[in-house]
Amino acid sequence: MSPIRMVDLRSQYEKIKKEIDANIAQVIESTAFVNGPKVKEFQTHLEEYLGVKHVIPCANGTDALQVSLMALGLTAGDEVITTPFTFIATAEVIGLLGLKCKFVDVEWDTFNIDVTLLEKNITPSTKAIIPVHLFGQSCNMEVIMQIAKKYSLFVIEDTCQAIGAEFIYRNGRKQRLGTIGDIGCTSFFPSKNLGCYGDGGAVFTNDDEIAKKLQGICNHGMYKQYYHEFLGVNSRLDAIQAAVLDIKLKYLNDYNEARKKASEFYNKMFENNPKIETPVISSFSTHVFHQYTLKFKNVERSQIIDKMKVANIPVMVYYPIPLHLQKAFDDLKYKIGDFPIAEKLSKCVISLPMHTELNEEQQQYIGENLHKFV
Ligand SMILES: *Cc1c(COP(=O)(O)O)cnc(C)c1O
Repeated sequence: MSPIRMVDLRSQYEKIKKEIDANIAQVIESTAFVNGPKVKEFQTHLEEYLGVKHVIPCANGTDALQVSLMALGLTAGDEVITTPFTFIATAEVIGLLGLKCKFVDVEWDTFNIDVTLLEKNITPSTKAIIPVHLFGQSCNMEVIMQIAKKYSLFVIEDTCQAIGAEFIYRNGRKQRLGTIGDIGCTSFFPSKNLGCYGDGGAVFTNDDEIAKKLQGICNHGMYKQYYHEFLGVNSRLDAIQAAVLDIKLKYLNDYNEARKKASEFYNKMFENNPKIETPVISSFSTHVFHQYTLKFKNVERSQIIDKMKVANIPVMVYYPIPLHLQKAFDDLKYKIGDFPIAEKLSKCVISLPMHTELNEEQQQYIGENLHKFV
């Protein structure tokens, strides 16, 4: 059996090495390292894939979130609602821009923001909601968009973990995540479902005006060279990364299918273990399994993690401390008990190896050991 990794980028690369190497070589030959034709090609292909009018590539997923908030013209003191059960980047950029981060608890089943709690957390200062499609499936976007419309709020989708997943409307229509709100954000960090070989990110929108603003912000507030309309940032996607992404985009559906298949194999193994709760898929979403995350019931998690380590099985806890209890957010004055579901989840979740190259022999080994240890 080949060694088990949390994410296996090497085996994936070996299968597409020829195409990737050739495309990277073209960039080097052309010396168009920043912007240039490769970035444009990838941008167009991603627009087609997502079914969205504008994709603006940028330097990473955190920047994607930051430039989105900047593009909407929010000012100091405006409130932005998001989840405490996510990677820090989502809430970090809110704080960095001097906006007020307001957390709303998540649902036990899906780990995503609990839309039934949204309305009571909206104040006259609330200007935007950032739903995070955690681990690869959609928040309840139909309800979120209704509430946003009612209170005139912007919606920025954090699609960093869910690129390729779709929201399913009640009438059966499907729409790619990141294209439903005013702006969608994604990350091309190597371990993401569509990952490059370094840092990368993008924002998406169907709104021409917002797109124009985003392009300017990512390029120092500049449309005509050395004429700066406003203060922006430098956030660009390297052409070498675009060359990698343009190849991998062709395989994204296959990659997401491979993850789904691996999730089904795991589900089967764990379905009858009363101490393990397998992932729940919402009726209104497809799932691209960025993470395969279990919940333990009445089990000492740290002991199991230690035993898995000894058996050479990497596992991770996403996320061990909800954001409202992070020291970095002390100034928000949240305390233990404010978001009970997020707090309880942070104590019982565990994510198993999940990537496009997992094989059944490896999964069998992971499953047998986990059963033995719980
Ligand atoms: C990865 C991630 C980000 C940040 O992306 P980077 O490219 O690492 O900056 C933001 N939000 C979520 C939910 C993520 O998973």
